[in-house]
Amino acid sequence: MSEERSLNFIEEIVEEDLASGKHGGRVLTRFPPEPNGYLHIGHAKAICLNFGLAKNYSGKTNLRFDDTNPTKEETEYVDSIKEDVKWLGFDWANELYASDYFDKLYEFAVALIQKGLAYVDDSSSEEIAAQKGTPTTAGTPNQYRERTVEENLQLFADMKAGKYADGERVLRAKIDLASPNMLLRDPLIYRIKHATHHRTGDAWCIYPMYDFAHGQSDAIEEITHSICTLEFVPHRDLYNLFIEKLELFPSKQYEFARLNITYTVMSKRKLLQLVEDKYVDGWDDPRMSTISGLRRRGYTPASIREFCERIGVAKRENMIDFSLLEFCIREDLNKTAWRRMAVLDPIKMIITNYPEGQIETLHGDNNPEVEGGEGGRDIPFSNELWIEREDFMEEPPKKFFRLGVGLSVRLKHAYIVKCEDFKKDADGNVTEIYCTYIPESKSGNDTSGINVKGTIHWVSVPHAKTAEVRLYDRLFKVEDPSNEEGDFKDYINPDSLQILPAAYVEPDLANAETGRGYQFIRKGYFTLDKLSTDEKLVFNRTVTLKDGWKAPQGK
Ligand code: ATP
Ligand code: MG
Repeated sequence: MSEERSLNFIEEIVEEDLASGKHGGRVLTRFPPEPNGYLHIGHAKAICLNFGLAKNYSGKTNLRFDDTNPTKEETEYVDSIKEDVKWLGFDWANELYASDYFDKLYEFAVALIQKGLAYVDDSSSEEIAAQKGTPTTAGTPNQYRERTVEENLQLFADMKAGKYADGERVLRAKIDLASPNMLLRDPLIYRIKHATHHRTGDAWCIYPMYDFAHGQSDAIEEITHSICTLEFVPHRDLYNLFIEKLELFPSKQYEFARLNITYTVMSKRKLLQLVEDKYVDGWDDPRMSTISGLRRRGYTPASIREFCERIGVAKRENMIDFSLLEFCIREDLNKTAWRRMAVLDPIKMIITNYPEGQIETLHGDNNPEVEGGEGGRDIPFSNELWIEREDFMEEPPKKFFRLGVGLSVRLKHAYIVKCEDFKKDADGNVTEIYCTYIPESKSGNDTSGINVKGTIHWVSVPHAKTAEVRLYDRLFKVEDPSNEEGDFKDYINPDSLQILPAAYVEPDLANAETGRGYQFIRKGYFTLDKLSTDEKLVFNRTVTLKDGWKAPQGK
């Protein structure tokens, strides 16, 4: 266990269980996604918790797909979930599917019927809802509740055999129609659904409900600690009840607070809407809160794990500031990103006293944070350079330590230059600036004795590669779009994506690797996008160098 922090409440439970010898000192957790969408950062929290717990206590974790709803589940989602869990750095002991247990679950249902604890109900869903009563009034039993065991066995077999249409009959657990927990008022445990399942095809036309699948699946696998989010608290009674009545392995459920992050949504259903209505470019759009989106944006697995560690495990719902996630990636990239130069809004500088056609090869470390620099790259220098438009001002104010006529700066890895003049087009836009350089001021071998305050980045014009650079902002304008009036999509930030079609980057970036972070000096952390080609480089900004983001006015 990490020494720096105290145990969270789940670790305390695990340590108590280990101390008392419960489960023979064994820890087996599971991560149980429903394959109905891509995983998001909330799932990353659950993954880190389940896998992390097992790792810390020499246990194991199963990856179990909760695939009991055939109409919403797809193999594409299964594959993406496996990819994301692996990418986050975790290995599962077994890849399992609730659908593996369809035969067993059917037997469990038959066993409940035989014990007189389940019955087939012919009522419509509206009738069932009406008969359930309200939190303050008890429900009322209907005539089906008194069916005999034999009749129920026959009807349930007929349901399985496909004799009935969807919704014509359901199997319900016979528990307590007056229970203060509405979920115990004879919950539905099997329904008819004539749909093709992504794994079992057309073998089944009845499917177990969540409450009749989850706990039993845990028990079949002998899961010791079944960790889920707070909305499952009311389900815990059912979880325990089915395990008890069916005399299964006593898995136990523990609940923690869901992760919520400001300025985003975190439900697969909502994320799916953003994808389907084309507000974003797929599940892995770099603005999405999905793990694949964060990966494409340039987040590293280490930064996401660090984020999950920092937020801890809470028992109460709360809202985590998006800036914490950004802080974690910034910290990580500061240590690992390779430094490069890129000019996002270019203007041309001509060095009038540098011989035309002369090329010099300068050198820059890949990573000055690491001893030895992790190698480096050549940086060509010539008399024509691209520099950032904002690094020049026609009428610079006093403390402007960049360029303006008469001002000097250092060109990173190169020389000190002094601005002598500039040219404007007919519309008054500055098009070129003219400088002289000081030959004795070369970085690493500066004998000029001249001190300048500012250093700017640049790219040699004849060597520059053109790149499209994508800058991102929050996907939503408000902190909690799901909690606003109307539809959450009404609160989408229209300026969340800014595309710079023609930035110039140093030539070495033609070798940029997918998955690596690059610090474009003074401009932020970037990563190569999957749409990048040899003909057209595309970079995503992962995060700015500093937290410059301000909450909107009036907040
Ligand atoms: P969604 O509403 O986004 O579809 P879900 O809870 O239905 O989420 P599942 O695939 O059923 O998604 O979840 C798999 C596991 O991940 C569950 O144990 C669930 O509790 C957990 N999980 C889902 N969302 C979060 C979240 N925001 N924070 C922490 N854990 C989460
Ligand atoms: Mg779900």
